[in-house]
Order: sequence, then C-alpha cells, then structure tokens
Amino acid sequence: MAHSDVLVIGAGFSGLQAARLLSDTFDVRVLEARERPGGRALAHAFANGDTVDLGGQWVGPGQDRFYALIEAVGARTYPLWSEGDHLVALDGRLRRYRGTIPSLPIHVLLDLNRLLGRFEAMAKQLDPARPWAHPKAEDWDRQTVGEFMARTGLTARAREMFAIAIGAVFCAEPHELSLLHALFYARAGRSLDALISVEGGAQQDRVHGDMGGLARLMADSLGGAVTYEAPVQALRWSDAGVTVETPAGEFSARRAILALPPNQALGIRFDPPLPAARDALWRRMPAGACIKCVAQYERPFWREAGLSGQSVGGPGPVRVTFDNTEAGREAGQLLGFIEGDEARIWSGRDPAERRAAVLESFAAVFGDAARHPADYADQDWMAEPYTRGCYAAFMGPGVWTTLGRALRDPIGPVHVAGTETAREGYGYFEGALEAAQRAADEVRAALSP
Ligand SMILES: Cc1cc2nc3c(=O)[nH]c(=O)nc-3n(C[C@H](O)[C@H](O)[C@H](O)COP(=O)(O)OP(=O)(O)OC[C@H]3O[C@@H](n4cnc5c(N)ncnc54)[C@H](O)[C@@H]3O)c2cc1C
Repeated sequence: MAHSDVLVIGAGFSGLQAARLLSDTFDVRVLEARERPGGRALAHAFANGDTVDLGGQWVGPGQDRFYALIEAVGARTYPLWSEGDHLVALDGRLRRYRGTIPSLPIHVLLDLNRLLGRFEAMAKQLDPARPWAHPKAEDWDRQTVGEFMARTGLTARAREMFAIAIGAVFCAEPHELSLLHALFYARAGRSLDALISVEGGAQQDRVHGDMGGLARLMADSLGGAVTYEAPVQALRWSDAGVTVETPAGEFSARRAILALPPNQALGIRFDPPLPAARDALWRRMPAGACIKCVAQYERPFWREAGLSGQSVGGPGPVRVTFDNTEAGREAGQLLGFIEGDEARIWSGRDPAERRAAVLESFAAVFGDAARHPADYADQDWMAEPYTRGCYAAFMGPGVWTTLGRALRDPIGPVHVAGTETAREGYGYFEGALEAAQRAADEVRAALSP
C-alpha cells in the first residue's frame, strides 16, 4: 500500500490547487477517477484543429485567485467577443440591444428592474460564509426563487426574463431553488448582475489555449503526484489517518482532502459511516442540468450583420448564446446552453436530433446560415459518470438553514474542498480555488507540529 502525508481525492481545479499548495511541505498524492485532470474543465478539438471548452471557460473581475493562477502557470486571457448588438427574441420578434438588460417595453423593463433590485438588495445583506445566520434566513430559505418572482414581478415578461437569467446562472428552474441559496450564490459571486454580465462580469475573459490545457499545466506542476483511473470507492478513517480503496490499489495518508461534488462524494463507502447531517446534506444537493453546445462556422457570419452573437430568449431549447470564436482564428463559433428542465429532456435524446434542435435555435436568432456549421460539438454533463450535472450543486428550500452548517466541517481526518464548499465564487473555478486554500490551510494546521 502506498503511503503519503496527504491524499487529495479528485483532480479538478480544487483538488489540483490544494495539492499545489501543500506539496512544498508534504508528500501529496492525488487520486483521480478519470484518465485526465480538470473535472468540469474539458477541452475539445474540432476537425480543423481549433479548440473549444465544453466545460467551464470564463473568468471575470473579482475572481482574483483564478487570475493569479492563470498568471502563475504562464497562461494569458483575452476578452470574449462582445462588439455589436445583442438580440432578444420575444413573442416571435427579434430586438437589438446593448449592455446586459434586453430592450423590452418600458413597463416590463421597470418591473424587471424592481425584481433585480430587490434580489440584489437582499443578497448584499448575507455573509456568504454563514448564510444561515441572517435574521431572515429561515424565511428566505422556506421560499423558492419561483415564489419570490411570483410575489415581486408583476408582468409575465419580466418574470420570463428573470427565469432565463436564473436558468443561465444555476442550470435549474426557479421553483427548484431555495431563495436563500440563490441569494447566497449571487453574494458569493459579487452580485447577480456580475454573474450574468460579460464586460465587468463573470463572462468577461477567456484563456488562450483552454481550461483543459490549464488543468494539464496544473497537474504537470505536481510531477508524477497524480494517479489517474483511480476512482476512490471506499474510505476508512480513524484519528490515525485515512485508507482508501481504488481499482489502482490502496492508498493511505495522515489526512485527506475530498475535492468532489456532493453527488460524487456520496458514491464513496465511508467506514465509519458519514455523520448523519453530512449524509443528509449531500443527498439534498443535486447538481444543475446543462448541455453545452458549440457550432463552428467558416467565419463568424453574424458579425457582418453588426451582431455580437449574444442573444437571449427564442423558442429553445437553447435560450442563451455567445460568440465563442477563438482569438486569432478565422472560423466562428456560436455557443449555446440547454439548461434546467430542457437539459433533462434533451439529455436522453439521440445526439443527431439534439444537434438539429440546437441549430434550429441558432437559426431562429441568427438566420439560415446558422443551419450549416462546418463542425459541431456538445457535452451532456448529466451523462458524465464522474460529474452527473453542472455547473454546480444547488440547494432547494430548507437545506441551508437545517443542514448547511455541516457543509465545510472535516469528517475526522478528511477535509472537504470543491467549489460546492466555497464561501467566495461558489459554483465557479474561483470557488474551487478558494475552497482549496481553506482545506489546505486546515491540513497544514493539523499536520504542523
Ligand atoms: C458546462 C460548464 C460550464 C461552466 N462554466 C464556467 C465558467 O465559465 N466559469 C467558471 O468559473 N466556472 C464554470 N463552470 C464551473 C466550473 O467548471 C466548476 O466550478 C469547477 O470546475 C469545479 O471544480 P472542482 O475541482 O470543485 O470539481 P470538479 O471539476 O468536478 O472535480 C472533481 C474531480 O473529481 C473526480 N472524481 C469524481 N469522483 C471521484 C472519485 N470517487 N475518486 C476520485 N476522483 C473522483 C472527477 O473526475 C473530477 O476530476 C462550468 C461548468 C460546466 C460543466
């Protein structure tokens, strides 16, 4: 059996970063289920050699740990293409607009403003390290985002637009989400406005190369410390340390860091069994539902019509698009997301049927040329055995205030990381890095003489 000081379970950004932070002092081994690092970061190469991220790809202001990491591994960023008019497709009509908020009839705009304003004002009041501690936490945790929308937004159009924004951020439906969780998430990511914005927001920048490449650089910086194709199936622990079983053998250590989404952590057989609160919490943290879809064209033809490639609305299943053209490349890329209930429906369908539906969505907004891509790729994250949904896990009503206190507690010598334990940037790469820092600090304190 191989022994080390620290076992890190999961080579996503969180696990890799925790290992990087500890490997100067300790002997660290990373165990990864897949044959590659990166987890929810995954690069795909089109036939012409251009690449695209089929997992996470953006970084934006306020995500300081993430920018620092990009610099530390020698990578560079460039802004997402955003020149030209955006489109909103509503009631069978296309309208052009600039900025974050679509052009809508004035009474709808005022109503949407009220919804957003109330939401942001409430989110601002939360301490993202302890959302359950707010005096109104129980009240907010009893409600869904859907109930909040029904009470606050007067017009159906404003509610529809707010629901698209919620779907784009959470990959879940408003009626599934605890209002407290949505407020926490927005606060942990600065604000809802920051999360839905391009310039100045979470969709501002991309990385040259791709996020899959960045994960590879992180893994390479650890020398040979990552063991691939080693899904942890069982974990025994005592005060003396941790032993895990994988198909690649048994590994033991004084401490472990579990850097997995909750649904994956639940797949591990713990001995002694998980504390009841932790088990109940993880079972109540389902992952969002999303299929990321990218069509490649000979050139970004929408730019010739003065369009940015950004759109919201339309008949679906894609209701949010971006110009994802790689910097310095000729071929254009249109990126769209299928989210929430639509993603659950399309997850089981024939890939050719899904591709046709996605191209129809693009054509409804950008015209007939969108029906004829040079290449196409999509990634159904629900079908991925070691992820099973994205962008991140969320909480329904009542979970934060009854079980949320257990979220970041170690389980004996097992510390928890992963973006789902973050206090800042929850759900994002930034959160994966923040959680890695906290877990690494805990391990360092525990192992220091
Ligand atoms: C389509 C999509 C778009 C996104 N867009 C963005 C974006 O633009 N910007 C952004 O900041 N974030 C984005 N995200 C979210 C971001 O990708 C995640 O927050 C981040 O990658 C989470 O990292 P993590 O290390 O916490 O978890 P993961 O990346 O899930 O890593 C967990 C690792 O554990 C491994 N594993 C699972 N089970 C076991 C086991 N039993 N034993 C060993 N290993 C195991 C997995 O294979 C995986 O490598 C997006 C995600 C997706 C999927």
